[in-house]
Amino acid sequence: MHIDIITTLPKLVESPFSDSILKRAQTKGLVTVNVVDLRAYSTNKHRTTDDYAFGGGAGMVMTIEPIDNCINDLKSKRTYDEVIYMSPDGELFQQSIANELSLKQNLILLCGHYKGVDERVREHLVTREISIGDYVLSGGELAAAVVADAVIRLLPGVLSDETSALSDSFQAGLVAPPVYTRPAEYKGWKVPDVLLSGHPAKIEEWRHDQAIERTRARRPGLLD
Ligand code: SAH
Repeated sequence: MHIDIITTLPKLVESPFSDSILKRAQTKGLVTVNVVDLRAYSTNKHRTTDDYAFGGGAGMVMTIEPIDNCINDLKSKRTYDEVIYMSPDGELFQQSIANELSLKQNLILLCGHYKGVDERVREHLVTREISIGDYVLSGGELAAAVVADAVIRLLPGVLSDETSALSDSFQAGLVAPPVYTRPAEYKGWKVPDVLLSGHPAKIEEWRHDQAIERTRARRPGLLD
C-alpha cells in the first residue's frame, strides 16, 4: 500500500509514522507513507497556499491551484483508489471504513488548515471526505494520521499476530473483552480465575461473554 499525505505542515504528520508499529510496517515494506509538502506546489514567490475568503469574514482559505498541481503530480506517478479530504463534515470514520481502505493500493489524504479548502477542491478534486469525529481540529494532519494508523495496522504482516486485529473492538460488532497480564494478584486485586485455568475453550467463552456484556454497557448500538 502507498499513502500520500498532502500537508503544509509535514513535520506534524511525520512523527506518528516514525515509531513502533507504523515504523515497522514501513521498514518491512508493507506500506509507504509519503508526506508531501504542499508549499512545493505553490507558484507564487512566498510559496503561500491560502488567501482571503471571497465575501469577507474571518479566516484564510486554502487555494485550489497548489492542491490541483500537487494531486496531478502524484497522479502522474500512480493511479489512486481514493483522494480523501479530511473534513469535520465528512463521513464519520469507523472501523468498517478502515477495513475497506485497508484493501486499497494507493491513497491520497489531503489535510486542510485555517477555514479549510476552496470548495472547488471538494467538488472536483477529491473522491471522498472523512471526519474523525464531530469536533473541529486546527488542521487535518492529526486526523490523517488517525486514519492512516487505523488502516495500516490492518495490513497483513503489520501486527506480529495476524489474528490480533480481528479480536479488537468493533471487528465482530463487539468491543474487546478485558485483558490482564502478570502479576496474577496486585495489591489484592486478582485476575479472573478462568484466565489462569489453562482451559482454552472456557477462556474463549468467558472472553466472548465479557465482550457482549461490555458492548451492552458501553456501545449498545452495536448489538442492534
Ligand atoms: N471551517 C471548517 C473547519 C476547518 S478546520 C468547518 O467549520 O467545517 C481546518 C482543517 O482541519 C479542515 O480543513 C480539515 O482538514 C481539518 N479537520 C478539522 N476537524 C476535523 C475532523 N473532525 N476530522 C477531519 N479533519 C478535520
